[in-house]
Amino acid sequence: MTARAFVIGHPIGHSRSPLIHRYWLDHHGIDASYEAIDVPPEKLAAFLDRVRDGEFAGGNVTVPHKQAALAACDRLDDTARQVGAVNTIVREAHALLGRNTDLDGFLGNLDAEAPGWDRADEALVLGAGGAARAVVAGLAQRGFARIHLINRTPSRAAALAAGREEIVFAGPLEDFSERARSSKLLVNTTTIGMHGTGFDDLPLSALPADAVVVDLVYVPLLTPLLAAARQRGLKTVDGLGMLLHQAVPAFEAWFGVRPEVTDQLRDLVVADLEGTA
Ligand code: NAP
Repeated sequence: MTARAFVIGHPIGHSRSPLIHRYWLDHHGIDASYEAIDVPPEKLAAFLDRVRDGEFAGGNVTVPHKQAALAACDRLDDTARQVGAVNTIVREAHALLGRNTDLDGFLGNLDAEAPGWDRADEALVLGAGGAARAVVAGLAQRGFARIHLINRTPSRAAALAAGREEIVFAGPLEDFSERARSSKLLVNTTTIGMHGTGFDDLPLSALPADAVVVDLVYVPLLTPLLAAARQRGLKTVDGLGMLLHQAVPAFEAWFGVRPEVTDQLRDLVVADLEGTA
């Protein structure tokens, strides 16, 4: 039987995951499918039962199902538990294993694009939503000693820091200058940068001259934050790499082959994002 995988979300039309996984299926000559399926929240449980019954090998989970999938899976890997969200489901017999590969994606992308980035021990993270949870967990895994976490709503940052206050220091966005001074890594995990938005006068000059600036937003690829960082001569890493790298362990889990993030794949997705594919 041909293996099937999916990405579920609501809405789902914007997802680039089918493009990525179909490219790899084709590249490796694997007879399988990857489908984007719109599943509204009230139909999530019924859909996951279809997966348990063997219709799919597994799939990706995106907005708004990442937390609901955490509760609905039969088993969780350590990362999903740590991050508090599931973005990948793997069927094992009649049970569902919930995983989170955003953390792998974040680390894998930086390893590829800014080798040595994790020799720093202090980082500044903007935002305290779902993506920030994966980023903070990844930085903690790589041994960062001080992770500054600043957010428009400081109480959300404090909630995310709870239980690891010895390495995660929460505060408001207004603390940027003070926290930036010794941070060799700046990560934007907020939605700012999408839909023509940008930070108002973020004082990037407070960062060390050898800091790396990462944006998780990938539409547009060159966000106002990355453009400003480049103008200052800082090393920048865009969000598309994370999207590509988080797909690697998922594909391997469903189809048994570890695929590679290549320039050709990246170009394909960039062309699609630019509407020229
Ligand atoms: P989320 O849980 O909704 O969190 C959104 C964050 O953005 C919160 O910290 C929120 O602050 C902040 N924010 C929103 N509007 C703001 C504004 N006007 N001013 C200041 N802060 C604002 O979203 P998420 O799932 O973490 O995703 C965040 C971004 O990361 C999205 O753009 C998503 O596409 C991207 N992402 C990319 C990848 C990738 O593979 N590249 C993976 C995951 C996510 P409050 O707490 O104050 O509301």
